[in-house]
Parts: sequence; structure tokens; C-alpha cells
Amino acid sequence: MTNPTFSQFQPIGFMGTTPQAVQLLDSLQNSIDGNLWISKNYAQRYHQDQTLLPEKFNIYNSALKEHLAVIWQNYNSLIFCLATGAVVRLIAPLLKDKADDPAIIVIDPEGRFVISLCGGHQGGADLLTKMVALQIGATPIITGASNSLSLPGIDILGRPYGWRKGQGSWTKLMMEIARQNTIEVIQEAGSNLWQSSLPKGHIFSLSNSNGRLGNWGDREEISSESVYQGKIWISVKQRDLSGEPGIPQGQWHPRVLWVGIGCERGTSKQLINQAITETFAKYNLAEKAIAGIATIDIKADEIGIVEVCRDRDLPLQTFAAQTLKQVVVPTPSAIVNQEVGTPSVAEAAAISAALLFDSQNIKLLEQEPKTNPLIVKKQIFKQEQQPGAVTVAIAQSEIEYTGKLGKLYLVGIGPGSLDQITTAAKTAITGADVVIGYSLYVDLVQPLFRVGQVIESLPITQEKQRGERAIALANQGLTVAVISSGDCGIYGMAGLVLEQLKLNNWDGQTPQVRVFPGISALQAAASRVGAPLMHDFCAISLSDLLTPWKVIMKRLEAAAMGDFVTSIYNPRSQKRVQQIVKAQEIFLQYREPDTPVAIVRSVYRDDEQITVTSLEKMLEHPIDMLTTIIIGNSNTYSHGDWMITPRGYLQ
Ligand code: SAH
Repeated sequence: MTNPTFSQFQPIGFMGTTPQAVQLLDSLQNSIDGNLWISKNYAQRYHQDQTLLPEKFNIYNSALKEHLAVIWQNYNSLIFCLATGAVVRLIAPLLKDKADDPAIIVIDPEGRFVISLCGGHQGGADLLTKMVALQIGATPIITGASNSLSLPGIDILGRPYGWRKGQGSWTKLMMEIARQNTIEVIQEAGSNLWQSSLPKGHIFSLSNSNGRLGNWGDREEISSESVYQGKIWISVKQRDLSGEPGIPQGQWHPRVLWVGIGCERGTSKQLINQAITETFAKYNLAEKAIAGIATIDIKADEIGIVEVCRDRDLPLQTFAAQTLKQVVVPTPSAIVNQEVGTPSVAEAAAISAALLFDSQNIKLLEQEPKTNPLIVKKQIFKQEQQPGAVTVAIAQSEIEYTGKLGKLYLVGIGPGSLDQITTAAKTAITGADVVIGYSLYVDLVQPLFRVGQVIESLPITQEKQRGERAIALANQGLTVAVISSGDCGIYGMAGLVLEQLKLNNWDGQTPQVRVFPGISALQAAASRVGAPLMHDFCAISLSDLLTPWKVIMKRLEAAAMGDFVTSIYNPRSQKRVQQIVKAQEIFLQYREPDTPVAIVRSVYRDDEQITVTSLEKMLEHPIDMLTTIIIGNSNTYSHGDWMITPRGYLQ
């Protein structure tokens, strides 16, 4: 089964010309969905030898150079297993600009290096390179400047949040960043989560304001005297940067503007578009900051509105007259009230949409939502030659609409060392926009993090908050990895998050959930003492925080009686010291005092400690919350430092 974390790079094409390259790419196809292209000559040459033909492939008839020209537009990412020089020559005539070019990555035929060749930022090649390198155990080669400065690429800054990139001298800005000059960033809208990913001593001078239109005048005056070498606006405002001499500037537009539209039946899409464009121009607002269109429900099938939404790829939010008429608006109309049963459509719909969106994302709001989000009152448009009439009003939500479906990866990171974590889990962590976990585990997977990724570590007791935060971010459209030690579905976060999702009426689809298994403590501990789990076994946690002690005792009794090899999780904490004593007592009723017991602490971590002892003597050894205990069954025996449970092969 392929790894879903690569879906963001689809469609992906693979290109190789030699048997070694084709085999390497073929093995990549097991985890990455894509089209592997081989030449007709290659297919003919090796058709006798099935081992040299990939499992799935497409054939091209022409020279590779011509073939590439044909398929260039069809792929977001192209993965070559070919000499870098050859790839450079092949793609050179096809490259247009950074915004359109696909991600180009090159793997050497031995699979030792993965090179981010082109489309590093906007094409996503840097991230794809890192993830492919993790997948095949190669060294990623990323040469972009912001990567080495540990700064997020300024040209992809808003991508996780669905912001749209506006006008700007992006290349010049990136040159200033590469020179490590200070860049002023003025954020007036959208999530500032990205700021938490910046390294200490970074070159951005940040100022935040959640101000609406009124607050902007002062700010610009101050910053025009600035000593900065570049300026980035994160704003709903459309600034004309062409006239400003001096430092390079750029603007990102978070999608927070809800455009309320009222119109007569049969109003053309041209008139609606014109009304939007003129209103935005009049108030210096960026059309790229539009989150969606809002109107009254009886207009849900109004062709002009539907077409505008389709052409601009915007959601349409509709409200019943009953709802709209309760909204207090600045410009009510008695005539409209008579016609559709509410004194306002455009203003009331814009306000309702902005408020509804914020209330759906209330957990992400840092302060109380604004009660009146309207920023542009009703504007009326009519045109002689065009049928119909349009009203437009604009409201601003606090939280941006990302236009993306969120993903929740529930990831088990194994016992502690990086080589005990599955490749799929690694790519899930590296590929996520946000990683959430208990601080100790976050530290353990540090090397998997990438520049610009948001990492949120929370104290051990805050599991519920961690789950809720992850769900809130995923509901907004982000890809969020929640990490647990061991397996995330064994006393981990997976069950909790799924329960919380169900409480939130999750439909099972959105956000998309994927569970990535990990090596649980019992397997990790077992591996360090041999093979104690070779026969029927069970796991029992002695933590009575969430499970009544009576229930735990009953299970200990049943496990002891049933002669299960038993792994004990959470055996003893500073406050909870009696449970392990009781557990030993119960097992001694059913098993011999010399039954082997393994006490394994911090397995696969730097301070790992392993003891093989007996049931009778187990309490003489240190046991704490970082320990897993394995109690053998009646046939388990020890051999030096090893512990073996016979399956019965030799009897
Ligand atoms: N999801 C985890 C279990 C979390 S409960 C898993 O599948 O492994 C926490 C308990 O797991 C600890 O109290 C300890 O008993 C056990 N544990 C977790 N990591 C461990 C490690 N590296 N070494 C030994 N025991 C460990």
C-alpha cells in the first residue's frame, strides 16, 4: 500500500533509463503513487527478463527529451534516476518560472543521494526530497538559502494556511533573505502560527495587528521610514507596490473576506464579477483575500453566483431569510424585506458567513470573536446594457479559510531511537504542517523536523488539550501529526483523538485520518531480552488514573490464571507504588517464584537498562514509569541474559 503523505505532490512521474535506475524507481512505487516511464527500447530489450521490467510502467516511443516536453504539464513532481547533468539538459528548455515549474528531484542510481534540483520552494521539491530520502534511507541534498538559514521559504509561507500570494518582488526579497538582511513582516490578518517556527535570532522583524481597515494608516507612516531591507505584508489590503522605490516588498493574502451578494434573478456573472472587482478596488482590498461568497438560500441556484464561485474556486455559503433578518445591519431595506423576507441580504449574509466560520473554528481563536465583522457596507451595482442588479458587502473573519481538507496523522514513533520508527511514520512527521506531542517524544524525533514546520509540545498531562488542538487545526485544513511513543493505538493518543473526533460528529472522512503504527514498548522490551512473547501474551497497564484499580486487579488475576506472558505498562510512578507489589502477589499465586521476569527501562534510548530476574526478586530492582516489565508464563526460561518462551517446536 502506498504512503498517503506523498499525496500533496501528486501527480508524480518517475523517469529512469537503466536497469538499476528502473529497479530503484520501481521499489519507490511501492510507497509512492506515480507513473514510471520507460522507453519502448528499454521495454523491448528487457521483455524477456521480467526481473528488469518494473511491476507497473508506461511506455514512451520518442526520445526522452521529446517525451518530457509532452508530459511536462501533466505532473506536479518529476523524480529522475539519472545523471544530474543529463537531467539539467533535459529540463532546461522546459523551465518557465518558479511558480509553474514542477518539482524536479534526482536520485543517483545507487540510491545514496536525493537532490532537490528545481522547484525547491514553490514546486515542493525540497520537502519531496527530504521525504524520498527518508523513504529510501538516502542523504537529502537541499541547497536553497532559506533552508540553510532555517527560515521558511517566503514564497511558500502561507501555503499551509491557504493564503494567496499577491504582488511582490519575490526574487529580490529572497535575495535579501539569503544575504541575511532584516525583513519587516507586518501581519494584519491570518494565523500567526508560522511565527512560532522561526529560529532564535531570525532576520524577520515582526509586527502583528489584528486591526481592520481603520488601524492601517498609522502603521504605514511609521514603516516607511524603516531601516529594513525588505517588507512583507500579510494582509487583506491590496497595496500597489510598483510605485514604491527602494526595498523589495511582497504581499500575502489570508482568505478572511466573506463577500455577501444580493442580486435580482438572472443577473449575469459579468455584472457580479464587476461589482466585486469595483468594490474591492474602491476599498483597496485584495480579491485574493476572498474566503467565499455568501447569500440567501433562495439564490443557491442563481446561475451568475454559481458561475462566479466556480470560476474563482470559492465556496458558496447560503442562509435562510429567517437567519438573515436577525442580523443587525447598517443598511436595511424595506423593499428587500418585502421581496425576500429579510431587510438585508448582502450585509447580513456577509456578517453571518464570517461569524459562522469563526464559530466553527472557535477553538483556534485567541480572543473573543468580534461581534460585527462587517468592513464594507452594501454597495449597489446596475448597468444599462446588463440585466439585473447586484449588492455587495464584505465581512472579515478572524480565522482564514484554507480551502483545503485537513489531515490527521496519528503516529507511533516507537520506543525512542530513530531507527526503530517506520519509514511511513517518518515521512508522516516530516510531511505534516504541524507536529503535536508530549515534549519528551517531540525531542526524540527532532531530526525529522523540517524548516518552517510548526512544532507544538505540550506537558505530559495535557493529552486532551493535545487532541483538541490537533483536531481544531485539522478541521481548519492543516495536516497535523500527533505523535505517541511506541504504538499510538496502545495506551497512546490514537484512541483519544478518534473518540474526540466522534464527539465532534466526525463523518469518518473529514478530516482524513490515518494511523501509523509503531513498535510498542512490549515488543521493544522483548527484543532486548530475546523472545519472551513467543506464546500467548497480554498487556496490562497498572495506571489507575483512568481505569479503576478493581478492574486492573481482575485482569491481572485472569492473565496470571490463564498463563499468559504478561507485559506490564506504567508499573510504578512516584505516587503510585503499591500496584506493582499487588501484581507480584497475584502472579505468585499462579506461577513459580523463579518464573523469569524482564525489567526493561528506557529501551532503545541512551539510558537503556535491562535486567532479567525472577518473579520472586523483581521488586529488588528499580522500576519506574519508563519501565516495561515482562513476566514469563509457566514454560518461560532464562538463559544467561536471555529470556525465552518456548512455542513447542522442540517438544
Ligand atoms: N504507546 C506506548 C505506551 C504508552 S504508556 C507504547 O506503545 O509503547 C507509557 C508506558 O509505556 C510507560 O510507563 C512504560 O511502561 C512503557 N514505555 C514506553 N516507552 C518505553 C521505553 N522506551 N522503555 C520501556 N518502557 C516504555
